[in-house]
Amino acid sequence: MRQLTANVLVETGLRGSNHGLVTTSDGLVLIDGPFKPSDTLRLKAEIERRGRLRYIINTEPHGDHWTSNAFFDVPAIAHAGVRSRILGTDLAEHVARVGSFGPDEPKLLEGYRPNAPAITFEDEMTLHVGHHTFRMVHMSGHTPYQAAVIVEEEGVVFTSDNIFCKVHTWLQEADPARWLQALDRLRRVGAQTLVPGHGPVCDKSYLKEQEAFIREWVDYVRGGVDRGLTKDQCVETLTAMTDRYPMDVEQEGYAPRVMRMNVANLYDYVTRAGIHEAGKGVYR
Ligand SMILES: [Zn+2]
Repeated sequence: MRQLTANVLVETGLRGSNHGLVTTSDGLVLIDGPFKPSDTLRLKAEIERRGRLRYIINTEPHGDHWTSNAFFDVPAIAHAGVRSRILGTDLAEHVARVGSFGPDEPKLLEGYRPNAPAITFEDEMTLHVGHHTFRMVHMSGHTPYQAAVIVEEEGVVFTSDNIFCKVHTWLQEADPARWLQALDRLRRVGAQTLVPGHGPVCDKSYLKEQEAFIREWVDYVRGGVDRGLTKDQCVETLTAMTDRYPMDVEQEGYAPRVMRMNVANLYDYVTRAGIHEAGKGVYR
């Protein structure tokens, strides 16, 4: 992990989402975690060297953010939707998927039980640990259950997957209009340093680029819809976005699948735009 500020360490180079570790005067707080159990055990050893872990905060419902909760005996905190999604996860399927990430993983997943968030919020929540303040703010976009985690004293915000910095953006269940609103809200947050869900740490200048890429994606699929293509035809033929950004760590080869999922979701979005507030001036 690398030292980002006086009390924040971040990891952006492992498979799965980024994660951060905040050292307070009364123990440590982990924000998201590694996807692979073997990476999680290395993180656990590092945490044990540094102090006592108090809480985990998950920024969103996708497995790359919460799979590691299971390896820590502390309460997790997240949006209520994250908890329901974890409780609704087909664990056999999840364990099989994560087990495929490497030869050491299946053994570490024996008896796997997710440590689903015991503490949940809907709109906002503030957690005080030692002298640190963690403000969690619900900002749907990439999924309906994203939260930004602002570490006030450090000037750092963990944005969740509402930001993919310089790596390909997954829009498989995105609501683009809400996502653009979330980017506006991030712009207004006092903290200046952004830890994205994926890719390197950035600052607010990247918000513009993320916004432009979301708009470009929607317009690209809208183009197919406007030409009268069916959903299947869109999914089959709209493949040109693949090379705009590289895939994140160990996702090589995933690009065609992500393309198809993004197109399928955006087709639904564009053709049912009326229920997505797209006509209300949020998205053109
Ligand atoms: Zn995600």
